[in-house]
Amino acid sequence: MLRQRGCVLWFTGLSGSGKSTVAAALESALVGAGHAAFVLDGDNLRHGLNSDLGFSPEDRSENIRRAGEVAALFADAGLVTLTAFISPYRADRESARAAVGPERFLEIFLDVPLEVCERRDPKQLYRRARAGEIGEFTGVSAPYEPPASPALVLDTSAADVSECVGRLVALLRRRGFLADAVPPAGTGAARA
Ligand code: ADP
Repeated sequence: MLRQRGCVLWFTGLSGSGKSTVAAALESALVGAGHAAFVLDGDNLRHGLNSDLGFSPEDRSENIRRAGEVAALFADAGLVTLTAFISPYRADRESARAAVGPERFLEIFLDVPLEVCERRDPKQLYRRARAGEIGEFTGVSAPYEPPASPALVLDTSAADVSECVGRLVALLRRRGFLADAVPPAGTGAARA
């Protein structure tokens, strides 16, 4: 019915690497093409479901565990689910992969140099981390573990947003998650 199979595109990368920007652009491209897609990110989870969690390693793990479970439910409902969490720990991402099911979990690594992310600093978080106002900040005072074998690597310092979206749509098609456009009702083979 949806002309798609539910799946999870799990974006991971430093703050400011472009996870939210690219995920939102992909969501709107997919919805514009008649697909059901939805972005889960820190904003819509940390304010509600995960409002009891902070940024210690244990809380980050629990944040990602719950995000993985919610993403699995969205994928069960048939949505192309896009998650935009730093998700710095490899083990937590592997838990999310197991919760979702490896055959429908695509890890997307936003591999952008720290200097670029820090220069962008869209939420002024790096400035505050360097000033000591935020502790345990990924890339500054907390680690980031890059994926060992992501489905796709995007460097948003080299590719613009529309190029990234194009590569993601191509990946979804290649893996069979998006069917080709069906002809409008009442035309072609349907009537023959
Ligand atoms: P994250 O979700 O990873 O923290 P954001 O998407 O919030 O990152 O911020 C990325 C910033 O980088 C935004 O200000 C965005 O406008 C900018 N930017 C510049 N070029 C790109 C690009 N090619 N792709 C994504 N973001 C880009």
